Amino acid sequence: MRDNSRKQFEFSEKENAKVRGFKRDPVGDKEAEIESGILQKYKGRLLVMASNKCAVHCRFCFRKNMQKESIPNLPEKLRKILEKDKSIKEVILSGGDPLMLCNSELQAFFNAIPKPLKIRIHSRMATVLPNRFTPALQSLFKQLSSRLIFVAHINHPSELSKKSERVFSSLSKNGAMLLNQSVLLKGINDNAKILAELSEKLFSQRVLPYYLHQLDKAIGTAHFEVPIKKAKEIFKELKEILPGYLVPRFVREIKGKKSKIWINC
Ligand code: SF4
Repeated sequence: MRDNSRKQFEFSEKENAKVRGFKRDPVGDKEAEIESGILQKYKGRLLVMASNKCAVHCRFCFRKNMQKESIPNLPEKLRKILEKDKSIKEVILSGGDPLMLCNSELQAFFNAIPKPLKIRIHSRMATVLPNRFTPALQSLFKQLSSRLIFVAHINHPSELSKKSERVFSSLSKNGAMLLNQSVLLKGINDNAKILAELSEKLFSQRVLPYYLHQLDKAIGTAHFEVPIKKAKEIFKELKEILPGYLVPRFVREIKGKKSKIWINC
C-alpha cells in the first residue's frame, strides 16, 4: 500500500479552487459560541478553544479559515460558566491543539473544571510531537486519572511509531481512556485495508477507534473529499474485515444538529 500520509500537510494549488457547498465555518462553530472561545453544541458538554496554535497545519482542517486570535482569561470564563451551569458533565479542550499550551496554562484549565466532570483532550501531539509528553505533563495528567479522555487524531497507520506507543502507554498507566478519531481523506486513507490496519495498530497501542468522519466542507479542502457513495462502500468493506470493537463510528457533523449524525452503510 502506498503511503501518502504526508499529503495531509502539503499545500496544493487545489486549495485555491472555489467549490460550491464549501464554507468558511462548515460546522457552525460561530453560532455555537456561548462566550468567546467557549462553544456548546451538544447537551452536557462544553468545547473550549483552549489554544489557537497547532504543531502542524493539516490542509483538510475544518477550522483552517477561522480567525486565529488568542482569547484572554479563558480558564476564568470557563470556571464562571461551570459554577452556574450544573448540567455540564464534560469539558472538551480543543483548538488548535490544547497541548500547544504550556503546563501552567493547562493546569489553569484543569483547576477551572471541578470534579467529577470529565476532561476530554483532542490533540494530534502523540504522533506529530511526541516529545511534548514530558514527565511533567504526564504527572499533570496523572492528577486527572480516569476523568481524562484523550482523543488522538490519527488518519493513517504510518503515523504511529514506537514514540507514540510510549506516549499512549504512559497515558494509559495514568488512568486515561484513549480514543482515536480520523477523517476519511481522498488519496490518503480512502481504502478499507488502510483503515483496518490503522484500527489494528491503534489497538496494539491501547487506543480504540472512535470516529471516522466524513470530511467537513471547509473552503480549500474539496480535493480531500471522498464522494459519499464511495465512502459508504469503503466503510461497508471495513466492517467486514474488522471485529466490531475495532470499527469506528462513521459520522458527519451537520451544523445545528443536536448530535453527530451516524452514516448508515
Ligand atoms: S492539528 Fe487539528 S486543529 Fe490543528 S490543523 Fe490539524 S486538524 Fe486542524
